[in-house]
Amino acid sequence: MPTNLIVALVHPRSTKRIALILPLVLLTASVAAAQSYDILLQGGHVIDPGNKIEQVMDVAISGDRIARVAANLPPQQAKKVLNVKGLYVTPGLIDLHAHVYGYSGSVFPDDTALLAGTTTVVDAGGAGWRSFDEFKKKIIDPSKTRVLVFLNIVGRGMIGPDAEDNVEDMDPVKTAAKIKENPNHIVGIKVAHFGLPGWTALERAIEAGRLSGTPVIVDDKIFTNSGRTSREKLLRVMRPGDLHTHVYNDRQLEVLDRFTGKLQPYMLEARKRGVLFDLGHGGGSFLWPVAVRAMKQGFPPDTISTDLHSSSIMIPQSDMANCISKLMNLGMKFQDAVERSTVNPARAIKRFPELGTLGEGKVADVAVFELKTGVFAFKDAWSKKLLGTRKLECVATIRNGRLVVDLNGLGFPLWSQAGEYEAIP
Ligand SMILES: [Zn+2]
Repeated sequence: MPTNLIVALVHPRSTKRIALILPLVLLTASVAAAQSYDILLQGGHVIDPGNKIEQVMDVAISGDRIARVAANLPPQQAKKVLNVKGLYVTPGLIDLHAHVYGYSGSVFPDDTALLAGTTTVVDAGGAGWRSFDEFKKKIIDPSKTRVLVFLNIVGRGMIGPDAEDNVEDMDPVKTAAKIKENPNHIVGIKVAHFGLPGWTALERAIEAGRLSGTPVIVDDKIFTNSGRTSREKLLRVMRPGDLHTHVYNDRQLEVLDRFTGKLQPYMLEARKRGVLFDLGHGGGSFLWPVAVRAMKQGFPPDTISTDLHSSSIMIPQSDMANCISKLMNLGMKFQDAVERSTVNPARAIKRFPELGTLGEGKVADVAVFELKTGVFAFKDAWSKKLLGTRKLECVATIRNGRLVVDLNGLGFPLWSQAGEYEAIP
């Protein structure tokens, strides 16, 4: 940190710039005593299911932590006040299934996640134990978004069918060892795209899960020649606490009886024994005929996630705000959707209440949303649309105490009233 700060003063009615060098201490000392909060979100409707809060309140942030959540906090104690009246304030969302490394359509997380109110993404199997170190260096470390990892049971990761069918490269011991070496980043194991018959890939992933004490997230088709069925997968092979993603894709799970459209009884049985179901919208895994019927029969996803990658964003726009909007238009309450996008994913990866709440002293990851009413089109992954009346739009995101998205300039003063620009070299 430099000891001096260059401040360029610009008179509102003049283009003349005067550069001054001021000691940093003089500039900040007088205000520091009076202003104990860095950011105050004032008057928003706070939805924090982890703390059972659902009312109009202020949220104050100091440094990278939530300082206070209470009504009528004094704005003069804050360096920056954001008027969020009429908006919703939630914990930063946790996207449990995203692709930010390895997979061919993976995207850099900051380019999409933060814009939708997502402050944590969990990469679903881009890297295996052989490629994790490169993933960490290239993506995890430089990202503003928090990036956690489901490590692929395939050592080389999600790099194509030949590698992903190579049973020789599915090593539970080496996978578990890499997880234990990186407990701050790796939260579980991914098994995906296995194209051969049988349970070998899933069983090896579960063995790695047993050795490392972490959950497995499953993305696994049930073609006739695979020798795998939904019932056996959910009731025998998977463990309580393991997750099945792509819950509304009928090639991964036979959620509904294909002839009657009725919810399969084994789905309820699996949920009862503790298997979790994740949305994993993606570019091919969210179908209105499955989602509408499953929601009507009382089978919502436990966790809402995007399966974020280039083709899931371009047409179906599967960011978190849009996934939540789709479920709300199928009858899910907003508060419930927030719980399934914060508390539930945090619990599934054993990070609750460290993540997923606005608890005082917790990391200041916060999202601000506008809930719009009108007539909106929501597209599924197979090019059909549903018309709905409510749409969630992220207007601001705070990550680690810093305002990183501010769609409408809530945190910006009018230039003509501020009078001075600060330029920090
Ligand atoms: Zn995926």
